[in-house]
Amino acid sequence: MTQENKIPYKIYLEESEMPTRWYNVRADMKNKPAPLLNPGTLQPMTAEELGGVFCADLVAQELDNDTPYIEIPEEIRNFYKMYRPSPVVRAYCLEEKLKTPAKIYYKFEGNNTSGSHKLNSAIAQAYYAKKQGLKGVTTETGAGQWGTALSMACAYLGLDCKVYMVKVSYEQKPFRREVMRTYGASVTPSPSMTTEVGKKILAAHPGTTGSLGCAISEAVEVAVGTEGYRYVLGSVLNQVLLHQSVIGLEAKAALDKYGVKPDIIIGCAGGGSNLGGLISPFMGEKLRGEADYRIIAVEPASCPSFTRGVYAYDFCDTGMVCPLAKMYTLGADFIPAPNHAGGLRYHGMSPVLSQLYDDGLMEATSIKQTDVFEAAEYFARCEGILPAPESSHAICAAINEAKKCAETGEEKTILFGLTGTGYFDMVAYEKFHDGLMDDYIPTDEELAKYRESLPKV
Ligand SMILES: *Cc1c(COP(=O)(O)O)cnc(C)c1O
Repeated sequence: MTQENKIPYKIYLEESEMPTRWYNVRADMKNKPAPLLNPGTLQPMTAEELGGVFCADLVAQELDNDTPYIEIPEEIRNFYKMYRPSPVVRAYCLEEKLKTPAKIYYKFEGNNTSGSHKLNSAIAQAYYAKKQGLKGVTTETGAGQWGTALSMACAYLGLDCKVYMVKVSYEQKPFRREVMRTYGASVTPSPSMTTEVGKKILAAHPGTTGSLGCAISEAVEVAVGTEGYRYVLGSVLNQVLLHQSVIGLEAKAALDKYGVKPDIIIGCAGGGSNLGGLISPFMGEKLRGEADYRIIAVEPASCPSFTRGVYAYDFCDTGMVCPLAKMYTLGADFIPAPNHAGGLRYHGMSPVLSQLYDDGLMEATSIKQTDVFEAAEYFARCEGILPAPESSHAICAAINEAKKCAETGEEKTILFGLTGTGYFDMVAYEKFHDGLMDDYIPTDEELAKYRESLPKV
């Protein structure tokens, strides 16, 4: 029997092998991600300023560019044990169907009720809010996975949870909304008349179906204006990548058990949290010169922040109430075309990943949505799992790499992040099956227009 035959379909870690510390990739970066700026003074945000919006421990994590490992509190580790470790799966069936010599592995994060990796950071953020004695947290949600994850975490810890949900999703995904309410969250369609910024946006754009940028502005306004509340965010921030490093640490430990070293690591990129988490320990080795990996971020062609955006300071939200972040961005007013169904619709990208990308340490590619759904269906039919459209961007890129191996005969090892399941995305699947899905890709002129609103820093 060859070594390869010994690799099981699913590699699980024992509970005792689960990570006890998160890994902070910033500690090994020579060029640190640029600091968040106060939009008024254009000076780096201080811990005190950030403390009005975020809880204290999370502010400390946000600003910590130097500590490589940060202890995962026991209560969070215990919560992780309810749905982790998540498996690394060897995609034997997919390999066979593709007739590729490539070895394909995926880290599956969809085995919890929220259906995605977002719970890894939701429980951490809720834990620190609770520890600080807060009453509750506010947030935004687009497709709904983050809001669901956060409401699960808040229910577990007895915290109030107020979710501003992008109006179009609120209307199109009533079941998502009900899951959140089942866990005790209040869900408000955004933009709403419950905030000043919501009223302003509605006055300027009557009938708007909302965007993540609007919902963030509303959630921040409520957090800052309500005693005992702070705001939490499910992606983009440094602290979120830190929490999500649990994905990469587990994946690396599982592969190490069998002596498997990936050549290519692939993840979908919305705000960058799953990709950042998956690649963290591998990128750490790369940054320290201990190993090399090809790392690929995959984004929608209809929201191409890495591949067609600019690396610049920008607003994180529409209402311009948040600090400025230096990131690959399409401009804070950018909203993907209404036919865009595949998630990953945020205009910006994690400052950590933006810096790594700018330094040439990772690549990015974009995929049009009908190709994404084709890959999703192909994958579902052989591997069984019904993937989230977001995750399917990574699937599609992994299949493309495996097909190249089939042509060249190269036996590359590919690891990709399968971030979640697609049960709440059946309207999008339906459109795909009925041939009603198209591929709108913004023109250069359109993108240039959104760039005009970048702040002059
Ligand atoms: C939110 C989400 C993503 C994208 O967010 P990142 O922060 O880029 O990871 C990807 N997949 C699923 C299933 C999600 O819910």
